[in-house]
Amino acid sequence: QAKSQGRNRICFFDPRVQAEMAERIALELDLRSALQAGELELHCQAQVGRSGQLIGGELLLRWRHPTRGWISPAVFIPLAEQTGLIEPLGQWVLRQTCELLGRWATDPLLAPLSLAVNLSVRQFRQKGFADHLIDLLQRSSVPAHSLKLEITESAVIEDVEAVIALMEQLRALGLRFSLDDFGTGYSSLAYLKRLPLAQLKIDQSFVRDLLTEANARAIAHAVIQMGNSLGLDVIAEGVETDAQHALLGRMGCHAFQGYRFARPVPLPDFERLVYHWNPAEAETIWG
Ligand code: C2E
Ligand code: MG
Ligand code: MG
Ligand code: MG
Repeated sequence: QAKSQGRNRICFFDPRVQAEMAERIALELDLRSALQAGELELHCQAQVGRSGQLIGGELLLRWRHPTRGWISPAVFIPLAEQTGLIEPLGQWVLRQTCELLGRWATDPLLAPLSLAVNLSVRQFRQKGFADHLIDLLQRSSVPAHSLKLEITESAVIEDVEAVIALMEQLRALGLRFSLDDFGTGYSSLAYLKRLPLAQLKIDQSFVRDLLTEANARAIAHAVIQMGNSLGLDVIAEGVETDAQHALLGRMGCHAFQGYRFARPVPLPDFERLVYHWNPAEAETIWG
């Protein structure tokens, strides 16, 4: 008894660590109510094909905090994962996404677009995830192929068999999977061969260093060639410059996403962007 108490007692001597802890707890409390309070919003970033055409978008979560302003998902998604809040939060994202695709289905310009959503490991592996998603798709009469699910390598390294079975089940319905941040995780090529993926997403770190580092260039090139030989689509994220765009295009990359084309914007702005899209501005001469 005494021994276990002693072991569990934690002392903080560093006031900075203590302040960080307090900050985290405060943010966590706020996050609990953010969903109810309507502080979460989905923004959308364009995805562009080889001839500059708009092929779809990626939905990215934003939190408009009442006193702190906009908080990045890079900050609150890990927090939501640690606390379990990711489950209601992830369900909210999927519900919003299906409702949005349902509304788009009757619009000639919006209907052909596909939307990608990010799934966190915990959300994806939550009990009843597939049934819940299937139910949402049916209720909003969204064609499953309009929805792309982005998972990361960390979602597949544990319990691979179960994950593959889940992915196969969803793929059979027409849903497509994209492997996000590809090249930064720990998955092996042996898994890659077995996962029912539709797309590889080259991580933005490789794109950022594309023109300055031979290694980044070699990795990006290898990912594109591997995707091609495995019959997968390859999209590059974080494309900011014409030079990055042109080089990736010459390497055979199929699709692009990044500030070079569009920033993530609120949904009404994204719909306007679709209506005013000019493929010529998003095209490049591969050279
Ligand atoms: P991600 O899925 O890899 O998203 C790409 C991130 O790169 C986004 O950051 C996007 O705004 C940013 N980005 C896009 N183009 C450029 C560019 O040209 N240059 C640079 N430097 N950055 C660019 P964001 O929106 O802050 O999202 C960060 C991460 O948060 C996402 O990474 C994703 O892992 C996670 N996330 C976002 N929304 C959701 C969500 O609804 N659910 C879950 N589970 N995770 C989410
Ligand atoms: Mg993503
Ligand atoms: Mg990514
Ligand atoms: Mg990322």
